[in-house]
Order: sequence, then C-alpha cells, then structure tokens
Amino acid sequence: MKSKKDIIPGPDGLRTYLDQIETCAYCPKLCRFSCPVAEADKRETTTPWGRQSMLHQVLLGGIKLDSELAGLSYMCLSCERCAEFCEHGDVLVPQVMRVAREVFRKQGFEPEPVMELRYTFKKYGNPKGKNLSARVRSLVPDRFLAEGAKAGLFLGCEVLTGASDMIGPALELLDAALIDYVAVHEGNEQCCGLPLYEAGDKDAFYEHAERVLYELAGYRMVVSLCPACTYTLKVLYPEQGLDHKIEVLHITELLARHGSNLKISAEAGKAVYFDPCYLGRYLGVYDQPRALAAKALGGEPMELFRNKREAYCCGGGSLLNLVSPGTASAASAEVHRQADLVEADKLVTACPRCRSMLKKESKGIEVEDVVELLASRLTSDP
Ligand code: SF4
Ligand code: SF4
Repeated sequence: MKSKKDIIPGPDGLRTYLDQIETCAYCPKLCRFSCPVAEADKRETTTPWGRQSMLHQVLLGGIKLDSELAGLSYMCLSCERCAEFCEHGDVLVPQVMRVAREVFRKQGFEPEPVMELRYTFKKYGNPKGKNLSARVRSLVPDRFLAEGAKAGLFLGCEVLTGASDMIGPALELLDAALIDYVAVHEGNEQCCGLPLYEAGDKDAFYEHAERVLYELAGYRMVVSLCPACTYTLKVLYPEQGLDHKIEVLHITELLARHGSNLKISAEAGKAVYFDPCYLGRYLGVYDQPRALAAKALGGEPMELFRNKREAYCCGGGSLLNLVSPGTASAASAEVHRQADLVEADKLVTACPRCRSMLKKESKGIEVEDVVELLASRLTSDP
C-alpha cells in the first residue's frame, strides 16, 4: 500500500521530512517564544511553525516554490534552541531548512548573497574570498608552525578574518600551559566547510571536507578556537560519511585538561558567561569554559537567566547574517539585554563568531573570548 509520502505532490527531498514538517504545521507553536529569529522578526511566517507550515503547503501542492519562500528557509540560525522546548520528539527545524535550501537552489530560487557565497567558496576554498594559508603565515610566528606535530591548531576562516587578535592570546596560553605538541595547521584548507552545508550544498561540502581531512590526516588531535569548526570536524564529517580517527577538541577542552600548569593572577569582576550554540547545545561543552573563566576571575562567572541548553543565540548562526543582517543584530541585542538584567560589565564567550556579533551590538559592555580573558591574567609569579 502506498504511504502518504508517496502520494503527496511536493519535491522529493522534502518528502522525506514530511513527518517533521507535518508535526510543526499542526502544532500550537509551542516553541514560538524560544526562536531568536521569530522574536526579532515579529512575523508569524518566520516562526518555526510558520516556516514549516510554508513547506507543508509546498508539499501538498498548495503553493509553488518562489524566491520569497526560499528566503524564508534562510530565516533560521541553526541554533537548535527550539528543539530544547519542543514537546513533540524528533523535530529538528534547522535540518529541514537545510534540505529546503537545497530544493530551492536546485529550482533556481537561491538568494543572491548565498549564491555569491558559494561562488566565492568555489574560487577561494573559503567563504571570505581570501588566501587564508598566507594569512596563517603572516599572523603566526614560525616556531608555532612546526611540521610533523602530533596535534594541529585549526584556526578556521572566522578567526583568520574577523578575530585574528585571538590568535596571540591562544598561543600564549598553549605556551603557558606547557602544551608543546600543538602546532598551527598551515595548509591550504583553513575552513571546515560548514557554510556550504548551511547553504544546502551537501555535495560541495563533502568534496571540501575530503580535502580538509586529507590535510589533517597526519594529526592525532585537532584543536580549534571555533565551536562551529570543532562541531563540523568532530561530528558532521563522520555523520556525512567521512569517518576519521582524529580527536577533535575545542581549545577550552584542551586548556582545561592542562589548567593546573597555568599561572593566573585572578581579578574579580562582574563577568557573565554566554554559551555559544555549537559549543553548548551541539557539543555539550559547558563546564570547561566556565572553569577557565573562573580561574581568571577568582570565582564562577555570573549566569544569564537562560543559559546552557536554553541559552539564546548571538545571531551569528547559519547564514542569517547574509540574508537578514538586521534580524541577526536584533538577536545579539537580546543577549546584551539579558546581560544588562544581571548587571554584568563584561560578556565572556568562547567563540570568535559570537564575540564578533556581540561586539558589534555592544553599547559599552566589554565582550571577550575566554581565551583573551585568561591570557590577560597570565603571570610569571610563582
Ligand atoms: S519544533 Fe516542536 S514545538 Fe516547535 S513548532 Fe515544531 S513541533 Fe511545535
Ligand atoms: S534553530 Fe533557532 S533560529 Fe532556527 S527555528 Fe529553531 S530556534 Fe529558530
């Protein structure tokens, strides 16, 4: 007997996700309040329910694909916050959005900024349109570029373009923690490829990931300053069939292992910690950055009202910033509002992307990555 999935007229890729799409379409918007995009955009069409209902209608043949609908599929940060509050089981809205993006792209409705991003990626091997391996050589002292190291520090495109001032503090900390087996990865591939995956171009993502893994194959461990790179290398590559035996760590995990070597002159302050989505919800790393911040502050950092699994998103996730920068900024502004509520004078995070987004929206509060905070408190005193 034919199932419902076989008889609905909608596009093939989306049909596989009929159950998830239908669950949202018939849901009384239980997660509406949790979605940073919906909160910022204030339209029902951009709620998780609204976007899934749009796809439901596409599947049923009630509406046709067009550029406006394609744009809606990008109104998602891939933050997975909605999933934390969903009572209906296995619904993952961002997963469905990525599939929808692929469908829209194949039908010729991809938003122009996304098309440009994929073009730039194809030409330069990264979304920034820069020679990133040359940047590594110009930003990193030779002694950190040793060949044949057991572990590689994968800097990633975000650090190399928007947060290169984090590189010095990170190297200082590796030195101070006596971690001498890590060298900075100097190869051609300096982007994990996540933007291609977010653009729904799984084939290009896979091919790029193969090239990255080929370059990283000599390492036993890869360390990253960027939670999105860490997640992509550690979880997404194997999930997409690119298995590897490399241990992948975020730098806060590595530093926490060697924390007893760090000599820190703690300085108290009203600093609050903000959980990056990829480090927190995606990878479950909550304690290590807090422990490092506590070392620098001489006590636990303050907490936002919504934290850990329920933490907000800085607005920098997925490709929202490309298609709707105002909505992305409004999400960052909400994080600042939450920091104001606890009267913090410093927002500490553990992600170069969150740091950039939050710095942009700051109205005076200092924003730092925990790596910078900790490096600024290093001391040579016994
Ligand atoms: S993600 Fe869950 S709570 Fe949100 S609209 Fe879909 S089914 Fe409802
Ligand atoms: S993943 Fe984040 S932005 Fe996307 S629908 Fe869920 S809560 Fe909203």
